[in-house]
Amino acid sequence: MSGSLTIAGLGPGDAALVTPEVSAALSEATDVLGYAAYVARVPAREGLRLHPSDNRMELARAGEALRLAAGGNSVVIVSSGDPGVFAMAATVFEALEAAPQWKDVAIRVLPGVTAMLAAAARAGAPLGHDFCAINLSDNLKPWPVIEKRLRLAAEADFAIALYNPRSVGRPDGFGRALDVLRDAGCSKRIVIFAHAVTTPKERIETVSLTEARPEMADMTTLVIICNSQTRRVGGFVYAPRRVS
Ligand code: SAH
Repeated sequence: MSGSLTIAGLGPGDAALVTPEVSAALSEATDVLGYAAYVARVPAREGLRLHPSDNRMELARAGEALRLAAGGNSVVIVSSGDPGVFAMAATVFEALEAAPQWKDVAIRVLPGVTAMLAAAARAGAPLGHDFCAINLSDNLKPWPVIEKRLRLAAEADFAIALYNPRSVGRPDGFGRALDVLRDAGCSKRIVIFAHAVTTPKERIETVSLTEARPEMADMTTLVIICNSQTRRVGGFVYAPRRVS
């Protein structure tokens, strides 16, 4: 019996944003692994084993998923949003690199709607021109790297999507990031705080960088620093596609 490992994105929260391809993979799975809050979004059924784990157990979870797949199971490892954006897909390949005995496991990555796109759609079209995404967590990279990327993205006038802006364990980084962007001359830029997008707790706040406060973000927030050309129209913001 040959098993498989599917790395799937569940989208930002709303069940309507789980792709049909991901739903099909889940309906055929024997085992689903992932951070407990994401596994809880997978409907339970007979014959499906759920393996919730802690958020910090990512490499161990990836190894376990490969082991189960090599044993002949249909394994799905779930992430929120898209599995390739600051999530499990890269972790699985890292585990694979360290464990060549599993190189023949059939692996596929199924995309999902990443938080940045769901947030941008709610706000209007802030990613209508060039943009980048930066993970503000310094768990896996040193803070000076984050600061350098923020400065250069500001200088290049990218719209900047900030993932993992602030957590209980990292209360200060986001305030420092706002200071870096203000020092880089971005004070007039529009900032979107998109909380828990597509869930019942959704809340979208749009302010200027001068008004932005660290407390406006937590781990359920996706922050978009708009580019300098971004304008308001009605209740929306949009980045013009033409830049002079
Ligand atoms: N793979 C995920 C990102 C994981 S990092 C994706 O593609 O969306 C986790 C961060 O994503 C959170 O700290 C937050 O910044 C963002 N995020 C995830 N879901 C969100 C949602 N529904 N609303 C706003 N931000 C969200």
